[in-house]
Amino acid sequence: MTIQEHVPLAPLTTLQVGGPARYLVEAASEDDVREAVDFARTRALPLFVLGGGSNLLVADSGWPGVVVKIAIGGITQREGDGAVLFDAGGGVDWDQFVAQVVARDCAGVECLSGIPGSVGGTPVQNVGAYGQEVSETIESVRALDLKANRVVVLPEQACGFRYRISIFNTTERGRYIILQITYRLTQGGTPSLKYADLQKHFASTGGPPSLAQVRATVRQIRESKGMLIVPGDADSRSAGSFFKNPVLSETEFHDLASRAELKGLKIPSYPALDAQSKVSAAWLVEHSGFAKGFMLGAAGISHKHALALINTGSASAADVARLKEKIRRGVEEAWGIVLEPEPVFVGF
Ligand SMILES: Cc1cc2nc3c(=O)[nH]c(=O)nc-3n(C[C@H](O)[C@H](O)[C@H](O)COP(=O)(O)OP(=O)(O)OC[C@H]3O[C@@H](n4cnc5c(N)ncnc54)[C@H](O)[C@@H]3O)c2cc1C
Repeated sequence: MTIQEHVPLAPLTTLQVGGPARYLVEAASEDDVREAVDFARTRALPLFVLGGGSNLLVADSGWPGVVVKIAIGGITQREGDGAVLFDAGGGVDWDQFVAQVVARDCAGVECLSGIPGSVGGTPVQNVGAYGQEVSETIESVRALDLKANRVVVLPEQACGFRYRISIFNTTERGRYIILQITYRLTQGGTPSLKYADLQKHFASTGGPPSLAQVRATVRQIRESKGMLIVPGDADSRSAGSFFKNPVLSETEFHDLASRAELKGLKIPSYPALDAQSKVSAAWLVEHSGFAKGFMLGAAGISHKHALALINTGSASAADVARLKEKIRRGVEEAWGIVLEPEPVFVGF
């Protein structure tokens, strides 16, 4: 295990803003992770676990303690009750994992193609896109429990998955370092086509598409929305969606929908659990005076997606935070809804 000092964190994130880590440890094994934890504990330094850095806003002052970058690799395949189980190291690149399982004709994560970040990052906010969420295929999560000081295996039911929620980013935040994940996939399964954009794309092709075709199409759609990291494309220098879609009760939703109707507008919404409605945060942003391409200093809104806040090149974390605040306040003033940021704020 090597320990580096005063390491800039901006290049380790997709937004590419933020200051240095006092210490950075790259942990390629479970032993490395334990050592890094001991290093932080003996010095009473705060610990931050870094995956692919694709869901972070790191403060300009950086992180005063130890950043552990999870670099545990390895993908292995085994049989399990009629399904195929894949054990993937927490540091494996997520999209490379998806590419591998799709190439082996295994269904279950094809719609999650093109999402940046690490395997270990996926359960944290129960990554989802185009009608799939990782909670549908995660069998178990192997993690270092910092409270009990031992490695545990958490079955899917113990992870508390909901929309953009798990125990890892709510009730047990900071308790677990995710080391490995087991996904349960279906060999030869048909691809999931729940999402309208995908259905439309394949409507005229006749017969169900292959997993590889769905993967390629998802990546294409994502690229057109700036939601695929493309080097040189400033619209993808983001943390993905910066705000979660608000989940409203029936009454709240009807109130919002009727206020929109008075303005001759129809707000896009989707059913959520417990008779709730998930409302499009992108729509709220765009109907509160923030068009795609809106700029505030060197931070802005992507030209391709109203929910992606971008670093146009020289933005600081403070610039991005200022823009976030302006949008949040604008939406609240226009619609009375307080948008909740999706990325994790580090060192603020
Ligand atoms: C262009 C773009 C598009 C995106 N599209 C989507 C999308 O469609 N759907 C979606 O859900 N998300 C999306 N995201 C957000 C992001 O890619 C995911 O949330 C991703 O899973 C984050 O993983 P990461 O490894 O980069 O985590 P990081 O950003 O490094 O960390 C995020 C959080 O997870 C914690 N964490 C990371 N790894 C571990 C670990 N091994 N153990 C414990 N905690 C850990 C960190 O401490 C932090 O709290 C997008 C982001 C970008 C930039």
